[in-house]
Amino acid sequence: MADPLILIENLRRAFPSGDGYVEALKGIDLTIEAGEMVAIIGASGSGKSTLMNVLGCLDKPTSGTYRVSGKPTDALGPDDLAALRREHFGFIFQRYNLLAELTAAGNVEIPAIYAGQRSADRLEKAHQLLDRLGMADRAEHRPGQLSGGQQQRVSIARALMNDADVILADEPTGALDKKSSEEVLRILHELHEDGRTVIIVTHDPEVAAQAERIIEISDGEIIADRQTRPAKQIQSAERPATSGQSASAWKAAVDRFSEAFQMALLAMRAHKLRTSLTMLGIVIGIASVVCVLALGEGSQRQVLENIRRLGTNTLEIFPGKNFGDLRSGRIRTLVVSDAAELEKQYFAAAVTPTVSSSGTVRFGPVEANAQISGVGDQYFAAKATELVEGRLLDTDSIRFRTQEVVIDENTRNTLFPGATDTAIGSVIFIDTVPCLVIGIVSSSQSSFGGRQNLSVYLPYTTVQTRFLGSTSLRSIILRVDESTDMDVAEQTVTDMLTQRHGAKDFFILNTDEIRQSITSTTQTMALLISAIALISLAVGGIGVMNIMLVSVSERITEIGVRMAVGARQGDILQQFLIEAVLVCLISGVLGILAALGFGVLFSMLGSSFSLVYSNTAIVSAVICATLIGVVFGYLPARNASRLDPSEVLSRS
Ligand code: ADP
Ligand code: MG
Repeated sequence: MADPLILIENLRRAFPSGDGYVEALKGIDLTIEAGEMVAIIGASGSGKSTLMNVLGCLDKPTSGTYRVSGKPTDALGPDDLAALRREHFGFIFQRYNLLAELTAAGNVEIPAIYAGQRSADRLEKAHQLLDRLGMADRAEHRPGQLSGGQQQRVSIARALMNDADVILADEPTGALDKKSSEEVLRILHELHEDGRTVIIVTHDPEVAAQAERIIEISDGEIIADRQTRPAKQIQSAERPATSGQSASAWKAAVDRFSEAFQMALLAMRAHKLRTSLTMLGIVIGIASVVCVLALGEGSQRQVLENIRRLGTNTLEIFPGKNFGDLRSGRIRTLVVSDAAELEKQYFAAAVTPTVSSSGTVRFGPVEANAQISGVGDQYFAAKATELVEGRLLDTDSIRFRTQEVVIDENTRNTLFPGATDTAIGSVIFIDTVPCLVIGIVSSSQSSFGGRQNLSVYLPYTTVQTRFLGSTSLRSIILRVDESTDMDVAEQTVTDMLTQRHGAKDFFILNTDEIRQSITSTTQTMALLISAIALISLAVGGIGVMNIMLVSVSERITEIGVRMAVGARQGDILQQFLIEAVLVCLISGVLGILAALGFGVLFSMLGSSFSLVYSNTAIVSAVICATLIGVVFGYLPARNASRLDPSEVLSRS
């Protein structure tokens, strides 16, 4: 003889209560054959629901055995039990337990999603079932728009979705009026006639009387078990075994993912305020990280650009011990022959002595103060100054102390307003010395606020004799060739000059060092602010964890229903994890947009530099947001997936 569909032997179920246990089921023995229609009746608290949960593999017995078609269930893990529920059992609850965010058809579809049915088949089947239950015109309604009887019919359709052979109905008419109750019972009869096994739990003798067999339970024990009508001969063939093809494993996983994704979106939409407040934390965190990195990068580029204008790879040698050395003005040891000697070094790409003075420049009626630089012919090469027009000073200019002058664009614009193209070849007065303008160079922006300064460049020999009356130098600028290490060059220069002067009466400004120190300063700053931003991200993450925990406890019934219809633990985990990651990812994108917006604002405020957004920063912001979602969403999601379905459903 074939194994009975359900075989229970000496089954006990105890719940922890206070210090001890309450036994809800005290040694149940029960056999139910396929195709029976059974009512389990008993007073409230007698253990009916507990028995039903065990029968439906929502709950495990404390002791005793439970076999489904001869297969013992006690060794099965959560996912195997979920598979059993998915394939064999259809649940109908007293409170329908429909998901409020989904339409009737959407609710009916759920079990098939977890079973991996193709979506087209799924939808067709859901509509067929609703049609059969007289709900065709309500398929797109949400539970809130349906009456109790209609909701129960949707939940029956859901129970039938995977062609369950056993329908478990726990007080299916408990919340319904008389007419709806009769309707539901009629449907249950029909299902029985289809060849399904129907088990109804009820406290109502009238409902129980509909069944062929009534099992009475009291205080956890079966006290009566009687056949009221002869069992109908079932014809299994009447019922199609399974309908609809199952999709490939990969396709099914994608389907489950997209279902979880949609549920996450719906959940976020249902709690807009809460979600957006949580997102705000992450948005601020991400926006500040991206902004700080962009600010750091932008300011660093600006500084490096300034240094580049200062002259790349240059050493500038000054007399004295340091800037501000009072004696430096009196130290006369830095001389032209030092420059000549430096020029002989293998690494010298360009060397120029400089002297400086200030005075007035005048052309016709226009007069202005200007910085007068006396320079060598290699000065422009050493400083990488760009020639705009005309020519530069050459060796002859230096040797013959010519009264030739190269002016910068500021000076040209000041002295020749409206007629800038007449500058070359004009004679301007510098103090009282007439000089011929031979070239225009671009204005240096190296000095702070230096954009408006006027600079004119004369041969240093001319400045020494005509303006200063002294042969000492302000500095020597040495441009080191690209292949030589700046520190080596600096050391060589120091050794050489110390030997020539008999003492170290000079100091060297190394642009490379300045660049390094500025770079490292901005990097330190960026690191520091990033650390603060990261802390704010962590705080945001905790916010995410918090709403996820709230979300899990709010949707406990939903979790229970999903588990009852066969969701695996992984499906539940995935759903909540997706929600957490989605919250964070959307915040991340908003954060990046906010940062970009800040950049626009920043440049509109007329800052001297703009924010530079690196792709790395943006990509890492997105990765960061995702990670926060995963890390802080994992715990709540795992909690949700490990919930015990029977307990969760009893809480609702
Ligand atoms: P019925 O469905 O017949 O009204 P139940 O099966 O729900 O009864 O409950 C039977 C007994 O088990 C009751 O005394 C109830 O308090 C107890 N019980 C049921 N579920 C739990 C649970 N999850 N934790 C503790 N006690 C429970
Ligand atoms: Mg109950």
